Amino acid sequence: MPTVRTVNISPNLPERLKPLLAIANNLWWTWTPEAIYLFQDMDRDVWERSGHNPVAMLGMIEQPRLEELERDEIFLARLDEIYSELERYLKSKTWHKKQLAEGKQSEGLIAYFSAEFGLHECLPLYSGGLGILAGDFMKSASDLGLPLVGIGLLYKHGYFQQYLNTDGWQLETYPSNDFYNMPLKPLKGSDGEPVTVQVEMDGRVVYARAWSIAVGRVEIYMLDTDVLSNSQADRQITSYLYGGGLETRIQQEIILGMGGIKLLMALGLTPTVCHMNEGHSAFMAIERLIQLMQNDGLSYTEAVEAVRSTSIFTTHTPVQAGIDRFPPEMIRRYFTKTVEGLGIDMEEFLGLGRINPSDPTEAFSMAVLAIKMASKTNGVSKLHSEVSRKMWANIWPQIPQHEVPITHITNGIHTLGWMSSEMARLYQRYLGTRWIDEPTDHAIWKRVEQIPAFEIWRSRERMIETLISFARTRLKKQLQAKGLSSYQIEKAEEVLDPEALTIGFARRFATYKRAALLFKDLERLKKILTDPERPVQIIFSGKAHPQDKLGKELIHQVVQTASLPEFRNHIVFIENYDIEVARHLVQGVDVWLNTPRRPNEASGTSGMKVTANGGINLSILDGWWVEGYKDGNGWAIGSGEEYQDHEYQDEVESRLLYELLENSVVPLFYKRNVHGIPDEWIEIIKNSIKTICPFFNTNRMVEDYAKQFYLPNTNKWRILKENNWNELKSLTLWKQNIIKTWPNVRILEIRVPLNDSIKVGDRLPISAIIDLAGLDPNEIRAEAYLGRLDEKGEISLGSPLPLLPSGENEGSAHIFKGNLLCLSSGQIGFSVRCYPYRKELGHKFEMGLLTWN
Ligand SMILES: *Cc1c(COP(=O)(O)O)cnc(C)c1O
Repeated sequence: MPTVRTVNISPNLPERLKPLLAIANNLWWTWTPEAIYLFQDMDRDVWERSGHNPVAMLGMIEQPRLEELERDEIFLARLDEIYSELERYLKSKTWHKKQLAEGKQSEGLIAYFSAEFGLHECLPLYSGGLGILAGDFMKSASDLGLPLVGIGLLYKHGYFQQYLNTDGWQLETYPSNDFYNMPLKPLKGSDGEPVTVQVEMDGRVVYARAWSIAVGRVEIYMLDTDVLSNSQADRQITSYLYGGGLETRIQQEIILGMGGIKLLMALGLTPTVCHMNEGHSAFMAIERLIQLMQNDGLSYTEAVEAVRSTSIFTTHTPVQAGIDRFPPEMIRRYFTKTVEGLGIDMEEFLGLGRINPSDPTEAFSMAVLAIKMASKTNGVSKLHSEVSRKMWANIWPQIPQHEVPITHITNGIHTLGWMSSEMARLYQRYLGTRWIDEPTDHAIWKRVEQIPAFEIWRSRERMIETLISFARTRLKKQLQAKGLSSYQIEKAEEVLDPEALTIGFARRFATYKRAALLFKDLERLKKILTDPERPVQIIFSGKAHPQDKLGKELIHQVVQTASLPEFRNHIVFIENYDIEVARHLVQGVDVWLNTPRRPNEASGTSGMKVTANGGINLSILDGWWVEGYKDGNGWAIGSGEEYQDHEYQDEVESRLLYELLENSVVPLFYKRNVHGIPDEWIEIIKNSIKTICPFFNTNRMVEDYAKQFYLPNTNKWRILKENNWNELKSLTLWKQNIIKTWPNVRILEIRVPLNDSIKVGDRLPISAIIDLAGLDPNEIRAEAYLGRLDEKGEISLGSPLPLLPSGENEGSAHIFKGNLLCLSSGQIGFSVRCYPYRKELGHKFEMGLLTWN
């Protein structure tokens, strides 16, 4: 075989068109409609063929067309305007700058790690919700001007593309990404040389080169092992997103986590906060330990303290099966040398990934590692954090479940990025332009009340038409690919009715999402869909994981049902659900259907995208909808029940769904006024926009992360690091002393007055006699923990009442006192507990030490 040399040829743009390159290479264009129109208008056909990839397109356009554009005054004026808008965006004063000026944020560097980023259809580096969230997160981080970098992996083949065979079974292809023709660049160091990192694994060195993607003001650094210095096998590590087996998975996660930290070091960047978006990147904590021990001379224990104080973990998975777990022998193989370097033994290391560190058979869980290495862990909706507290309660066996330190920051969407131009124009006129910069302002969104119903309706009509023509084009292509006759292909032109009520169901085909719930009773469904006066149609889309047989069967069932004569033209399936398909669907449909088996949907975000576009949610009360649903802003299927018997649940909930469709959704949609406009329907649209848009967006979400997590972590990093880690060392010493002493701390006695006649409004004095084993009374916190008793005689959902050191002693023990204000009658129970306290601790259960009487 001859050696192949490669050269990279860049497009030969006339000087006057050069700003196009700057625009194409910053994903700011993905949420700037004028920029997209500009690219589109250069050559519509090439724009489509390039997969909406402006970088590839600039290399594909014929020279004569470029010369024509170079002389097109109108085009040039638009180009200049967009280019200066980009420059304005990059320079303008941001939320973060203002917060800095007011002392509400501090300088720092946040590193945001994610195995996938869903930014645009031309960058297929995502599989679903997790990636889309990370992409929208980056866009809002840019809008807000956070000092943040993303860290990810650049996959040669990304996630698979889906197509269906003629029988409706899913098949997968893995087209390869041409990185040199995508909106990303090899990352160069300060010396101008490409940056590569070396990661040690399983007795060898693996090289990864770095790329960068510009997302407005922030960048994502992506690692890629497809380099000549690696063995053939190692070149494949970053080939597929979630591809291969466990071995590939651990290798990818070592590159992402450990390689990611090495990359930041190579660039001279020291993060003050490391955010793990899901557990895939948790090995970053291990590499940080190594770096802090080597470069700052910290001990293992001190390094753990420093890493933990400045790491954040967001969990997205409400089921154990969704979490990466590696067998202990695999961890031994990959981490022997690392563990030697840390100066601990392998069992202690394995304990970092185990709920019960002393169980030698327990697998190494990435989520447990992430939880143990983070100062803050959060779920992605209120309900999901409850589920997560239950799921991980065993890590803190002493702590009542509802107090397990896992909080929530509910997900959002980057609203502008999902907005149709019709809707954006309408908002511009009635809400003003400020909604773009301040999407969290309730008062601005309240102005939708002033939009005349007929204007909303006209816009909605145009949006559904756009969706239908998109769907017809796609369906034609699908039929062509299956080799059908031109007669059958032409039929696709008649599919879907622009006047009919359109329901969308698009998401991963995981079984818990129950795509076939609507098919429980086909006769009843047929009546609903095919009423000639009030027709209804459903558009499905979604991929099943290649190894998920049940998911594939669901797709098959949808397609088979859609092909029954009675459902023809009423049910369609669009192949290869991706950001482009999602965008068309969320912008066009009237109703977004979501039927997860509660509480399996951690958050879900697609319903939020629909709202901003004037669609209405019809969903099980799960994930974000528990918080989003209000009377009159959409429909809830059921009232948040959970069932043991899934068969029965499907039966009940499908019936509720039919009833809602028959009695509420369909009649309301077809209830028109004299001008043919559904007034009451439009009221729901307005309510839904008003109540949902200001909160369920990523600007609000990223601000929450910044205020609740990034600011305290950055400040803590500063304090710990001062004077050569003085505070860190003293904190570590203190903790070690506490750990040694704590078993001797005892609550000796609790005293309450013997009195039967306590009345509502009385104060009940409580004293606790605590043997502090030599600790200072200020080094602990004591609390009465009280609440109503459940049937087992245990306190349920108790709340704490502080007991303060009284200064009085009894022998060598201290007396802590408090007053319980009796607010309601009936029997309550209480106990007393205490835990170590120091103001530098991130939360009260950080040390996991809690002693009960
Ligand atoms: C928004 C989106 C998702 C996530 O939506 P869910 O509500 O979690 O189903 C997944 N895939 C794509 C392509 C999306 O645009």
